Amino acid sequence: MLKVLRRIIQEVSSAQDFKEALNIMVKRVARALDTQACSIFLLDRHRGEYVLMATRGLNPQAVGKVRIPMTQGLVSYVGEREEPINIDDATKHPRFLLVPEVKEEEYKAFLGTPLIYHRQVLGVLIVQQQEPRRYDESEEAFLVTLSAQLAAIIAHAEATGVIDSLFDVHKTKTGEATYSGIPSAPGVGIGTGVVVYPLEDLDAVPDREPDDVEAEIRLLESALASGREDFRLLSERLYPNLPIEERSLFDVYQRMLDITDLGAEIVTHIRQGNWAQGALKKVIQKHVDHLESLENEYLRERAVDIKDLGHRVLLYLQKNDRALPLYTDQTILIGDTLTAADLAEVPEDCLAGVICAKGSNSSHVAILARAMGVPTVMGVSDIPIYELQNKEIIVDGFYGQIYISPNPDLKKEFENLAEQERELDASLESLRDELCQTRDGHRVPLMVNTGLGADVSLSLAAGAEGVGLYRTETPFLMRDRFPSGEEQRVIYGQLLTSFAPRPVIMRTLDIGGDKALPYFPMKEDNPFLGWRGIRVTLDHPEIFLVQVRAMLRASENINNLRIMLPMVTDVSEVDEALRLFKRAYADVCDEGFKIEMPEIGVMIEVPSAVYQARALSSRVDFISVGSNDLTQYILAVDRNNSRVAALFDSLHPAVLRALMQIVEAGHQEGKHVSICGEMAGDPVAVLLLVAMGFNSLSMSASSLSRIKWVIRQFTLKKAQKLLQEVLTMESSVMIRCHMELALEQVGLGGLLRAGKR
Ligand code: PEP
Ligand code: MG
Repeated sequence: MLKVLRRIIQEVSSAQDFKEALNIMVKRVARALDTQACSIFLLDRHRGEYVLMATRGLNPQAVGKVRIPMTQGLVSYVGEREEPINIDDATKHPRFLLVPEVKEEEYKAFLGTPLIYHRQVLGVLIVQQQEPRRYDESEEAFLVTLSAQLAAIIAHAEATGVIDSLFDVHKTKTGEATYSGIPSAPGVGIGTGVVVYPLEDLDAVPDREPDDVEAEIRLLESALASGREDFRLLSERLYPNLPIEERSLFDVYQRMLDITDLGAEIVTHIRQGNWAQGALKKVIQKHVDHLESLENEYLRERAVDIKDLGHRVLLYLQKNDRALPLYTDQTILIGDTLTAADLAEVPEDCLAGVICAKGSNSSHVAILARAMGVPTVMGVSDIPIYELQNKEIIVDGFYGQIYISPNPDLKKEFENLAEQERELDASLESLRDELCQTRDGHRVPLMVNTGLGADVSLSLAAGAEGVGLYRTETPFLMRDRFPSGEEQRVIYGQLLTSFAPRPVIMRTLDIGGDKALPYFPMKEDNPFLGWRGIRVTLDHPEIFLVQVRAMLRASENINNLRIMLPMVTDVSEVDEALRLFKRAYADVCDEGFKIEMPEIGVMIEVPSAVYQARALSSRVDFISVGSNDLTQYILAVDRNNSRVAALFDSLHPAVLRALMQIVEAGHQEGKHVSICGEMAGDPVAVLLLVAMGFNSLSMSASSLSRIKWVIRQFTLKKAQKLLQEVLTMESSVMIRCHMELALEQVGLGGLLRAGKR
């Protein structure tokens, strides 16, 4: 069964279009269950009706025409119950509805399963049989398993607007579509899609309209000729030693690379509106999928050879067409995985937005984008990246929404929003040199989180009072080996110098989780619960010592360095780290450096550290809350998983209580308590943090002026009152609403979008 399941999903996924995918589904399911009819109904939510979209066994003429109201019939009943319905004689069921057009009266046995994605019923898959009988348990289980997988394919088609266009044949195909991901840098970006992709990877080639069809065909001809020449030379060299069947295989491949063979198929795709590389990808994919779906093992293995042919031709195509991405004035940079270098290549002032299918808001691309103030959405897993070149796109970095080919009304709405954002930013510039304090004079120093050189000037321009978190892993991530002690000293020295005399808190290397170094592989089933942060560096004192010595040497004559330990779960880790600090300090002093021992701090970002916050505080000079990880671990919600992103909320009552406990513990030990997770940059959360007594807040540079503005509108007393009020509430939704209302009442409603993570 598993094999059959896999094959069906594989065939369905490689269908030319969604209609074909639906037809494959019904055909293959009917065959797999050896049943007479299989049909798919999809829900047209606008009209509240299930529409027959594909069938094997019912009247094919009824496809697209028959619509069943959501309140009637067995199909609707399956959707309503959100579970399989298995009946031996459907005609006797009280919900049976005779729809003469589908010609189903001769069918008695009925098994229907809902197609559900992210809690939403998208449609119903049914199988039917003339003889009355109950489908057995294994058949039901098969259909349920298959439906769960098919639902994801249907959800993708729904998100891209394909289903809407199928429901209504008169509707023009505008290509409008909406996608959701993880909001990773606030703001609204409107511009044109520029897809970047790794070279030499056929799967990564985007679809693209050719500027000049004939030129693309000439490129293809030349690439095919080079490919044939390769095979000719290879065969000349290898023929004498090759068995006869292998020789004929060589000949076949050489012939396939002819313009009348595979070449002709590729040319057809080019003429239909795809460039040579995209057309090559389509044709090779089709052949590979076909071969992989065959029963014959020998033929299945030939799929690898076809991939190799495609790869060879691609190399020649890319060699002759090495055009750089065509950035526009308002570039929306799109990629499956993007790197900081991809961002850096876009000409200055041309980057309007970033969309990345993989990654999270803690990926260093997201960190960089945030620091640059470029609206960004990460983890948009179902977006058809390779169809977005040159498309008009809106990136809503507040809510993590992406709008493709938006209609004029929607575009106007977002243009207005972007304009309001600009006005707000301009009005906030005057705050730069103002103190960050409440109306009744309570000071709250604002610091910045940095990690990439690019954000230093932005941070200073925004009026940062220091660095509350320097993520040192960034220089480690951007190399193909560990940076040497001297390289690190130079990097750290630049940062300390540019912020002096303001304090700079450097965090020791925090790799693991989602931050793996390419040259230091860690393969774990549960990376966020595995080898992370201080666990790694204590296991590798040589890495830790090199880093700490580099920090200490860099601080000579500047003396604004503070050092902080990430992911601490146990006091013994702090004791061990302190022992290593002392050793590194002694070593560096012995070398002749004149430095002061910097203040040492601990990050509180896991539940065990909350409960031991006092013991931890007693050992160090300050503590700082990493609210991103703390929220993740308290709520058991992966901070990088877009599927559960709605559950990730630092305003959860449990998180708020943990924060209060941390502040209290730190203050009982007379220590400075700060917070450096994203929560500190959330206007809706910040008053609560001030009321709790955090001594300083650290956030991305782009949030700084807004946070200062909020704090300056309120008294400490009012913030404390708000805190007492939200502590009586039991859900983060209520707390968020309450705080939003408080901001609106003092005229800060405009900031609310910025607060959404
Ligand atoms: C945090 O966890 O809140 C934090 C500041 O660290 P990072 O986001 O780098 O894990
Ligand atoms: Mg963290």
